[in-house]
Amino acid sequence: MKITFLGTGTSQGVPVIACNCEVCQSLDYRDKRLRTAIHIEVDGKSFVIDAGPDFRQQMLRERIHKLDAVIFTHEHKDHTAGLDDVRAYNFFQKRDMPVYGREQVLEQIKREFAYAFAEIRYPGIPQINLCPIENQPFEIEGVSFLPIEVLHYKLPVFGYRIGDFAYITDVNYISAHELAKVKGVKVLVLGALRREKHLSHFSLSEAIEVFEKVKPEMGYITHISHQMGMHSDVEEELPTNIRLAYDGLSLVL
Ligand SMILES: [Zn+2]
Ligand SMILES: [Zn+2]
Ligand SMILES: [Zn+2]
Repeated sequence: MKITFLGTGTSQGVPVIACNCEVCQSLDYRDKRLRTAIHIEVDGKSFVIDAGPDFRQQMLRERIHKLDAVIFTHEHKDHTAGLDDVRAYNFFQKRDMPVYGREQVLEQIKREFAYAFAEIRYPGIPQINLCPIENQPFEIEGVSFLPIEVLHYKLPVFGYRIGDFAYITDVNYISAHELAKVKGVKVLVLGALRREKHLSHFSLSEAIEVFEKVKPEMGYITHISHQMGMHSDVEEELPTNIRLAYDGLSLVL
């Protein structure tokens, strides 16, 4: 299995438009963060978790020539806005794109991309096959996904476990029952926005507490704000088995 971080930034990305802070002006490529998403290559299949506003750029950068499904964590725009660009895959693969998410997420997709679901469809619009999921294991083309239901303030969000890898972003609460599902993973990814406490996201120290409970071989932080600080400064303070993810980072499990 190969995991690639397509984007590791919070909803505004880093740099933030019009911001002159030191992080937004940093020349370190690891301080340039597109909106959060990952690509998973497993058993010859190719999946993305989330398709935010930078989806097109991410697919081009990573040269992803084949995509078997899009799996959504939740309905926020920074995770869904790029879905229209699955058109390229519709064209080359000659089939609808399967899109997985909770019922509420798919309802929002239908509203936001209403033209793709209209009775009379304009030629060239995205062809999407909505696949509702619940908090139960499911399979896509023989690959097993285990949802982990967490809270993002009051919004339920799905993290996913695929084999020894688990990915949970946009989270500030994980129940003991759901956290038990990630026990034994080699790599755990958690969203954490910044050092200070936040209403709907873990802070850095709250995420570290979760890593300490789960004890994965490696923990990675994603969904990072410019308020987190410079990548190199933050990493110096972290234990060696907890790293900040960065755009383009690939892991082979
Ligand atoms: Zn987000
Ligand atoms: Zn800034
Ligand atoms: Zn969100």
